[in-house]
Amino acid sequence: MRHLASLVLFLATAPSLAAATQPAPPHAAEKQLAVATIDENREQLTALSDEVWRYAETALQETKSSKALADLAEKKGFRVTRGVAGMPTAFVAEYGTGRPVIGIMGEYDALPGLSQKAEPERAVIEPGAPGHGCGHNLFGVGSLAAAIAVKELIAAGKLHGTVKFFGTPAEEAVGGKLYMLRDGVMNGVDVMLAWHPDDETRADTKSTQAIVDVTVEFFGRAAHAAYDPWNGRSAVHGLEIFTLAVNMMREHIHPSSRMHYAILKGGDVPNVVPEYGKVWIWLRDEKRELVDEMLGRLRKMATGAAMAADVESKVTINGGDWNMLVNMAGERLAQQNLEWLGPLQFTPQEQELAKAIQRANHLPEKGLNPAIKPFEAVPGPAEGGSTDVADISWNMPIIHLSVATAPTGVPWHGWSVVACSGMSIGHKGMILASEALAATMIDLFLDPANVRAVREEFAKKTEGVQYTAYIPAGPPRLPTANP
Ligand SMILES: [Zn+2]
Repeated sequence: MRHLASLVLFLATAPSLAAATQPAPPHAAEKQLAVATIDENREQLTALSDEVWRYAETALQETKSSKALADLAEKKGFRVTRGVAGMPTAFVAEYGTGRPVIGIMGEYDALPGLSQKAEPERAVIEPGAPGHGCGHNLFGVGSLAAAIAVKELIAAGKLHGTVKFFGTPAEEAVGGKLYMLRDGVMNGVDVMLAWHPDDETRADTKSTQAIVDVTVEFFGRAAHAAYDPWNGRSAVHGLEIFTLAVNMMREHIHPSSRMHYAILKGGDVPNVVPEYGKVWIWLRDEKRELVDEMLGRLRKMATGAAMAADVESKVTINGGDWNMLVNMAGERLAQQNLEWLGPLQFTPQEQELAKAIQRANHLPEKGLNPAIKPFEAVPGPAEGGSTDVADISWNMPIIHLSVATAPTGVPWHGWSVVACSGMSIGHKGMILASEALAATMIDLFLDPANVRAVREEFAKKTEGVQYTAYIPAGPPRLPTANP
């Protein structure tokens, strides 16, 4: 393994010298046992990660991926409940009894159209097929690996309490976690953990953006565009006025706001006045309130555009996420453990491969960043992008970390990330993530003061906040049924 096996050996042979260079963290003995378990399972874990990488199943279609993860959990002695919260690919695997209840989440959905070989240049496996452009194959297996390591310590009587792994599908398109939350699947968790693949390694003290996912439809009247255009009312004119208004709104929003849309239906042929138009739009900002405010303006624009074109409009909210509520007490624990585990050890060949990927992307050839980023106590503005993990963070405290699994600066949700998620670069990041997550869980199990500190900060930050999810009533809809 990376370096810790040698550290363990070193500690055993020269503890005083080792202590001088690498201070042992709290509960080092238990943490080393967890690291040893992950190391023992390493081959199986990387094979499972590659298996999920090959399946590359998109949101709510992750049948084989979720089964592979749930099967391993069951084999390792977890009590597994499959198909929770109305989603066949969502599951819970738990072990132990009583408090604390420490949860950890894993994702495994892929992205459409990103099929890619584990090679340093664009090389499609199957045209149009999905690929793991966000590294969720690593995310799912890395988290499960940490849960397994903790489970072994509970089984050995070294930890007391319950560990729960949540197999959370459809992060990219539906927000599976929101439905698990709504159905109470996560009730009773004292602290939840998660991580995400990245191009650097850190405890995450930056928030993420809140988002609302909206469809706006326009309904007009068809007519011959030349013979009797006065009988027609163009739905697409309504749509065009609407997008013009949205683009003008850009001048009067916060610098942190983002909006992006795709026109899904804009008529069929020029000689038919279009009776139907459809646009899919996402609004984002650093806080849920700011997104709500833009959403209110968007509704007015839809109504106004419809009036101007003498058509009808309909606004549908498909889903959305809150911004992430960061828990500094928890993040400090995660950072401590990352620093104890130390930087990633990439080989010269891996660095060369990373540079080749950067070359192919016309990026500076910086290679992979193995370092643990210093703790950001004053983190600055939210990261661009949104996640359904953020919704969990308003319902229970979250400890979240990022680990480098891809070269510096490569486009996320792109082929480079798919490639690295299916090779040793990604595996190494995944293993470090699982070790850091396991070590952080051990800090929570063995020291009630840690759980208290994390929960007190959470209680303080959520005081007076009324959480409501941006999801429609009823079961989650398959993305294909979405706009
Ligand atoms: Zn992701």
